[in-house]
Amino acid sequence: SAVEAPQFVGQDVEVLCADGQSRRYVHLDNTASTPALTEVVREVEEFLPWYSSVHRGTGVKSRRSTEVFESTRDTVAAFVGARPSDQVVLVRNTTEAINVLSGALPAGTRVLGTPVEHHANLLPWRRHDFEMLPFPASADELCASCDQALREAERPFDLVAVTAASNVTGEVWPLARLAQIAHRHGARLFVDAAQLAAHRAIHMAADGIDLLAFSGHKIYAPFGAGALVGDLGALSHSAPFMRGGGAVLMVTADEVIWEVGPERHEAGSPNVVGAVALAAACRALSAVGMDEVARHERVLAAQLRAGLEQTPGLELFGLWSGADIDRVGVATFQLPGYRHPLLAAILSAEHAIGVRNGCFCAHLLMARLLGLTTEELQALSAQFHAGQQPAIPGAVRASIGLGTTSADVDRLVQALGDLADHGPRATYHYEPDHDEY
Ligand code: PMP
Repeated sequence: SAVEAPQFVGQDVEVLCADGQSRRYVHLDNTASTPALTEVVREVEEFLPWYSSVHRGTGVKSRRSTEVFESTRDTVAAFVGARPSDQVVLVRNTTEAINVLSGALPAGTRVLGTPVEHHANLLPWRRHDFEMLPFPASADELCASCDQALREAERPFDLVAVTAASNVTGEVWPLARLAQIAHRHGARLFVDAAQLAAHRAIHMAADGIDLLAFSGHKIYAPFGAGALVGDLGALSHSAPFMRGGGAVLMVTADEVIWEVGPERHEAGSPNVVGAVALAAACRALSAVGMDEVARHERVLAAQLRAGLEQTPGLELFGLWSGADIDRVGVATFQLPGYRHPLLAAILSAEHAIGVRNGCFCAHLLMARLLGLTTEELQALSAQFHAGQQPAIPGAVRASIGLGTTSADVDRLVQALGDLADHGPRATYHYEPDHDEY
């Protein structure tokens, strides 16, 4: 049986399709953002009458808002299985969390990453002394190359920064093994859990994950909050992420004494509604049970994969192959005859199916999966430099979540099967307009 029916706001929305028919909207873009859990919205609504300033007032509402904001840290810490000593910085999203972390580390910190990462877990590290492992062909190869790179480093690495699950291939990374390897060589492990938090239980303490980030909008809490969790250690004394009120203990004309702890990196009035939503989502997912979530999604992910594999000509992308690969329900593919913006536009306009197309903020990985040559990349870069809008390479991504049903997956598989059977039409009366890299 399925998970005890969690409800989502907007799960029965109908949209008008190009043929004039209304169809129930099928959201297969859970990797990008997830719909709001009804329970999350209920808790936000219950809180709103009490909404007031955080850390900045003595009124009852202000004190309640502060209490609720502060208690979110504990809820988040419990959700990811953090150690009692771990701290939680409340931020906007994973991107901000990684920027807080990378900005707080001393200049020249030695960071080891991979080319599989989302740009959020790649670009902030490039301001440090950053090196990348080769593309791994398996979890074992990833661990072996990580071990080798750390062992052979002339100057030891301080931090290993990896994804928990790829936002393009869905492959789940061996976090506990990577933590052991990092620690053996004196490095800490940072995990970008944006793509795991909604799908699997996270055990920071048990797995030895030192630092971790995730986003509320990917775990059914769409009110703009995310978290950086872990042994903040040096971060408590490093340069603050932003400068302003709330991050200081004392200011004089020529001195600033910064807060010690998470507040140091949370200048400005914080997003207390986002925090309420984030905590509500953590509790709601825990109430369902992350093992139950994973079980529900495994069935649908298998249905999606099997359907795609049976679609004539469809090419499904992945780095790892074999029967026993652990994946979250993300599938990235191409269908011959249909450029990715057209395929995504057809699925939307004719079938009311929401997917994503392009390169998914993972250009290094997509260049590899699509087999782009250096010359092709140079030609693209020249076009961007010249201010042109080139037709960009890419693929289509479908991704499932807790709100996905077997009927949703069927709708996509049917639509792709029809498109594969009939081939593209000569013209379409709507423009595929989403040609973003
Ligand atoms: N890392 C991964 C693996 C992601 O999939 C995403 C979002 N697509 C991010 C980081 C960035 O998350 P956000 O946009 O919420 O900052």
